[in-house]
Amino acid sequence: MKIYLDGKYVSEDEAKISVFDHGVLYGDGVFEGIRLYNGRIFRLQQHLDRLFNSAKAIMLAIPLTKEQLVDACCETCRLNKLKDGYIRLVVTRGVGYLGLNPFRCKKPTVFIIADTIELYPEEVYRKGLKLITASTQRTNPAAVSPSVKSLNYLNNILAKIEAVNAGTNEAIMLNNQGHVAECTGDNIFVVRRGKIETPPVSAGALIGITREVVIELAAKRGIEVGEPNLTRYDLWAADEVFLTGTAAEIVPVASIDGRAIGSGRPGPLTLQLTEDFRKLTRSEGVPIDGK
Ligand code: PMP
Repeated sequence: MKIYLDGKYVSEDEAKISVFDHGVLYGDGVFEGIRLYNGRIFRLQQHLDRLFNSAKAIMLAIPLTKEQLVDACCETCRLNKLKDGYIRLVVTRGVGYLGLNPFRCKKPTVFIIADTIELYPEEVYRKGLKLITASTQRTNPAAVSPSVKSLNYLNNILAKIEAVNAGTNEAIMLNNQGHVAECTGDNIFVVRRGKIETPPVSAGALIGITREVVIELAAKRGIEVGEPNLTRYDLWAADEVFLTGTAAEIVPVASIDGRAIGSGRPGPLTLQLTEDFRKLTRSEGVPIDGK
């Protein structure tokens, strides 16, 4: 496997960064997870826009332009002969000293890994995911904004540990008001009376690229989409619930906190949107071979 690291394409063995990199010492950095479908990188521009906004929020100057990052992502996929896969693009604060001060780090470290990914077993997409609500709250937007896709995922990891300890693989995270924010690595949607709803970004949700795509797809079908504050009750009482994320795509939810959602099987709107999503992801994107 070839990995892009600071301007070079190196082997897995050579793809190493310093123990003084603040990405390692402090989780100081930002990243994106991007999908490649049929030789095209899906929504690459939106991912790069979000990366640059995350970097701006933490005052990290990415040492490459968006155009250079497009080229590096495409080349990493080409070198690995990937047609379908997952790209992890990471920018850390770079090598510094043992203190926190990010301005003493010389230059950001940039690396890109292109590989395959399967987040959940195939059965989950047929039968639906079982969720629990974590007691760990989503980071308060007055602390680190959940809109920043940073290397610091401990908040979400603690919730993920709760899910695994409870015998399932994903957890819902609430904000400090008790409203639903999102899951540990995915956004959440409910279907109520034929209408689709997802928590507002202000409730602590990441501005998910897949979330935006699903909102577009629903609008194309003439389905109303709302962004109200949602409680756990709203989820339990929903007709359908599904999750969205780049790696996970669209995942039906079978139960939450032991309550079956709707029929307990993937609902009709979830299946319809999944089909629309599948078609869209195979029909657009930045071609890695430039054609
Ligand atoms: N929320 C969190 C916390 C995430 O890490 C992710 C990405 N895995 C998402 C939501 C989904 O965002 P996207 O659709 O852009 O992948």
